[in-house]
Amino acid sequence: MKYQDLHIQTQREFPNNARTQGFGWLVRAGYLTRENEALPLGERAISKLHILAKKPDFLSQISLPLLHNEHETFFLLDTGPLEIIHCPACNYTGRVELTPFLKTPFAQRQEQEKQLPIEKVLTPDCHTIEALANFLNIPKEKTAKALMYTRTSDNQFIFVVVRGDMQMSEAKLKNLVGDVRTATVEEISRSGAVAGYASPVGLKNALIVVDDLVPRSPNLAAGANEAGYHLLNTNCGRDYSPEITSDLIQARAGDTCIGCGNPLSVVTALCLAKRSEFYFENILLALAETHHDDKGLTFPKSASPFDVYLMHIPGRQLDTRAKAEEICNDLQNAGFAVLFDDRDERAGVKFNDADLVGCPIRITVGEKALQNGMVELKPRKEKENKLIALEKIIEEISQERLTPHLP
Ligand SMILES: [Zn+2]
Repeated sequence: MKYQDLHIQTQREFPNNARTQGFGWLVRAGYLTRENEALPLGERAISKLHILAKKPDFLSQISLPLLHNEHETFFLLDTGPLEIIHCPACNYTGRVELTPFLKTPFAQRQEQEKQLPIEKVLTPDCHTIEALANFLNIPKEKTAKALMYTRTSDNQFIFVVVRGDMQMSEAKLKNLVGDVRTATVEEISRSGAVAGYASPVGLKNALIVVDDLVPRSPNLAAGANEAGYHLLNTNCGRDYSPEITSDLIQARAGDTCIGCGNPLSVVTALCLAKRSEFYFENILLALAETHHDDKGLTFPKSASPFDVYLMHIPGRQLDTRAKAEEICNDLQNAGFAVLFDDRDERAGVKFNDADLVGCPIRITVGEKALQNGMVELKPRKEKENKLIALEKIIEEISQERLTPHLP
């Protein structure tokens, strides 16, 4: 493949919108536009990944640090779009909004507490958990937080209860009941609830869904469904009966790992694969993040879109370009994917571009070496180059030979 046929346009500067180093190098090396669209070189890199993906264990063979669970594979990235929880101790990993964690510590303490009689108390201006806990001088874990939704498929009013110290995950709720939207003021009042002072006690036609920690948390303060009042000592099962009891809480950093009991971290990531589906653009970005130096990309042999970057330095006496073309044909006939830089540019320009594009091997056809029947060969990740006899080229780079090959 000729450089000019691929219309490669390398950039001297980092794009000013580069979210990450890897993205910046992909733009500078001519794989992507600044708007994140694949250019021909990027499309070729992605085609190579498609071919590689037919092999089992593909992701682990292209030298990427990965986190995964049974469904998804992630790559840690500071500016990644996903939040995942990760246990550094046992590698437990999952999307923060979907993955369960261990909730026992509070419950163990509270299970020993006896259920107390319900009691209605005046709580002026206590519209939030914060205000309620302050006013009653109790920890937030002793309050019940109410969230009200309407199921979009059948307009069923859904009343959710989680403990006041916890954050509900809408993704977990939707997995349980289907798609929902926030309930309107009319829908809330039709059920008998009062926004700001709502609880599931005494509601009509509500589907009550509680987090599984709520039945294990006795004597929670909850709304009285009357403006300005709350109930002390509400108990799930005694004062109201949920239709669904399940995990509804979004994990936070420091929560306890369900696998090993150690504290969880929350980190940002890219998703590279979900079940057997691969996200090739994300994989390309992950490769660029992990495989670059201060001159450009250094893709691993297995994932580089070309095996060899072949270039000539225009000569005075010998036609180096014709010789390079001959070498290109020989290499391609031997099964190597070659990017032939066929431009009549200065050596320095081509060396810079070869470093940016990042093929594992660069072969340079220059007049002086060619007069002795030699070419220069330089692995991308090494500083030194060496002279190789023309007839030894294929043998030499066969050690670096890559499979599978692009046509
Ligand atoms: Zn763990």
